[in-house]
Amino acid sequence: MTPSANALLQADDSADTGTQQIRDAIRDAIVERRLAPGTKLSEADVGNLFNVSRTLARAALQALSYEGLVSVEKNRGAFVAYPSPDEAKQIFAARRLVEPGILREAAARITPSQIQHLRQLLQEEGRLISERGQTARRAEIKASGDFHLTLASISGNAIMQRFMEELVARSSLVIALYGQSAVSSCGHSEHGDIVTAIEAGDLDRACHLMVHHISHIEADLDLRERKSFGLKEAFSI
Ligand SMILES: [Zn+2]
Repeated sequence: MTPSANALLQADDSADTGTQQIRDAIRDAIVERRLAPGTKLSEADVGNLFNVSRTLARAALQALSYEGLVSVEKNRGAFVAYPSPDEAKQIFAARRLVEPGILREAAARITPSQIQHLRQLLQEEGRLISERGQTARRAEIKASGDFHLTLASISGNAIMQRFMEELVARSSLVIALYGQSAVSSCGHSEHGDIVTAIEAGDLDRACHLMVHHISHIEADLDLRERKSFGLKEAFSI
């Protein structure tokens, strides 16, 4: 390989890393609901914020649009996605299909120290629920999503893990838009029951609990079209 080609490859590598970092940071902000559905994401602002070129910012926004987290409108720019009620239903239906499979894979490989780690996550979640304030709320939302993502990472399937990152972030957008209760999107005790069933080796029960858990999150949504806050208003910033 010529030195210049090598340099080009390295530049490409760092561009990829930059795109990935921006993508992860924006996804986290969406999951923690620091970025609301419909928020304008200008390439210039994203570029300045992360100290990268507009080209890199555009690539990151484009990548997020493939995940369904950002909507790129011709001549208008990029916005945090504003999922419709139909899309919301499909996201939870996808989770009910995918998560029992992930759970079975994870349970087949899980080690005692990973069970311990899941229990620690639950403890942290419980601690955050009892705390007040915005920061604690955000951390709690993140911790509740982390439970599902941790199971995906234990499953050892990187593709499913990426898919779950997308589904958890899209769920967070849906809950921000249509969620009714002020409490956590994930019932804390339901997570605990799932871990107990995995530990007991009762996978049918664990899967059953997982499907019900996802249905409970969906049941808390009010999936009527938002008349006073339609697409047009949401995208007219
Ligand atoms: Zn949950």
